[in-house]
Amino acid sequence: MGKVAFATAVTCAAAACAVTALVVRQRMQSSVRWASVDAVMRELEERCATPVGKLRQLADAMAVEMHAGLAAEGGSKLKMLISYVDNLPTGDEEGLFYALDLGGTNFRVLRVQLGGKEGRIVRQEFEEVSIPPHLMIGGSDELFDFIASALARFIASEGEDFHLPVGRQRELGFTFSFPVRQISIGSGTLVKWTKGFNIDGTVGEDVVGELSRAMERQGLNMRVSALVNDTIGTLAGGRYHDKDVVAAVILGTGTNAAYVERVKAIPKWQGLLPKSGETVINMEWGNFRSSHLPITEYDRALDDVSLNPGEQIYEKLVSGMYLGEIFRRVLLRLAQEAALFGETVPAKLEVPFSLRTPIMSAMHHDKSPDLTVVDTKLNEVLGILNTSLQTRKMVVQICDIIAKRSARLAAAGIVGIVKKVSRARDNARELPRMVIAMDGGLYEHYKIFSESVQSTIKEILGEEASASVVIKMANDGSGIGAALLAASHSHYLELEQSL
Ligand code: ADP
Ligand code: MG
Repeated sequence: MGKVAFATAVTCAAAACAVTALVVRQRMQSSVRWASVDAVMRELEERCATPVGKLRQLADAMAVEMHAGLAAEGGSKLKMLISYVDNLPTGDEEGLFYALDLGGTNFRVLRVQLGGKEGRIVRQEFEEVSIPPHLMIGGSDELFDFIASALARFIASEGEDFHLPVGRQRELGFTFSFPVRQISIGSGTLVKWTKGFNIDGTVGEDVVGELSRAMERQGLNMRVSALVNDTIGTLAGGRYHDKDVVAAVILGTGTNAAYVERVKAIPKWQGLLPKSGETVINMEWGNFRSSHLPITEYDRALDDVSLNPGEQIYEKLVSGMYLGEIFRRVLLRLAQEAALFGETVPAKLEVPFSLRTPIMSAMHHDKSPDLTVVDTKLNEVLGILNTSLQTRKMVVQICDIIAKRSARLAAAGIVGIVKKVSRARDNARELPRMVIAMDGGLYEHYKIFSESVQSTIKEILGEEASASVVIKMANDGSGIGAALLAASHSHYLELEQSL
């Protein structure tokens, strides 16, 4: 009341405006039902809690599920797929090799000249091409012709620093990050399209066949020597640089992991594999499920309306595609039940996926005393004005709860793999150095997230044991990795060995 009386006494128009804004802000603040906010927040914190005891149970559950998935077909929610990668790159690879990466945010082509043990990666070049949306839902020939023609242009632009021995066919590693039933290292049939792709008549078809026919149509003389997904590619790329790489983890739009397993530990493929040695398993860990996972009402509601309800539960708690959406759902409830953003619920807040993870990350990292980044993003993205500092602090706290739960669950998964791998080497008196090759925009750009993954691994394993576990960022490991796998599975190596 006092302020309103004061406003009438002011004659300067600008000052009057400022005072009116102040009044609006005060009204909005006072309308927030803080007792309801506290109740929702307390419940969120409780349901998202990941005490270290729970994380240890989850790590054990991951190791148990890995075991079960290897023992029998359908033995676990983890598919534990064979990759047929029996020769990981060693560093001795030589020659010119290519990669094609389809299934991430962009489609890429890459060439690399390998110089063997001494020369290593002599030279590499890549090009990024975005796929026109109409080709993502069109016919097979249209999509694969587009890809093959981009590849043909890339090869036509090749400089003299790249050398192909006379009489040799070019060899390609194809990173195809969609569900594939692999038949050999160089072929596999498509199980289904995901990530917005839907191409007629290709499910059940040999993916390499489709690409090879398109390359022929483009007059390209090229052989696909390795078909892999991004996780396997990242593992191969990591191994080339560091022989202690035992696994790869992707934390991007989605999440997955792959690791190196001894052939004799894989009962379900006895007969399909060589009798000894190591191979790479694609875990498809996004589908991990356990009663120990902290699942909230927000996660359940998100899952219910998702394209794949009941599936990929771990991925929906952890990966970049979903964190922003969980965050939005919490804000929406607070807007509805506690008038956090005033008496009317902001319309944009009701739109699914209107808050993406990079926005959440930007708010979470806001270091300014007044939380101006939070203020700006709320305004730009959701049309929310005039929040109090107390409200903005609340928003950051929600980011923190959701991101840390995700990071801590990812850490538990990694420890699960470490346990599975080190159990196989249990003769060793101390843990050997184990490197995890990491890729993905979530881990790369969300600093609070990646720091939390690392500190949580320490918390679960203890200072001493965790010192043997190293996470190495493998930027674009999947592209170069596929080219390296084409090299280590080169047709010409086979020919030389058979002579
Ligand atoms: P993809 O997973 O499609 O291959 P990336 O590995 O580059 O692509 O990951 C992209 C994902 O990473 C985005 O969908 C988003 O969830 C997350 N991401 C990208 N930038 C950021 C950021 N600045 N902060 C948090 N997450 C981010
Ligand atoms: Mg990717």
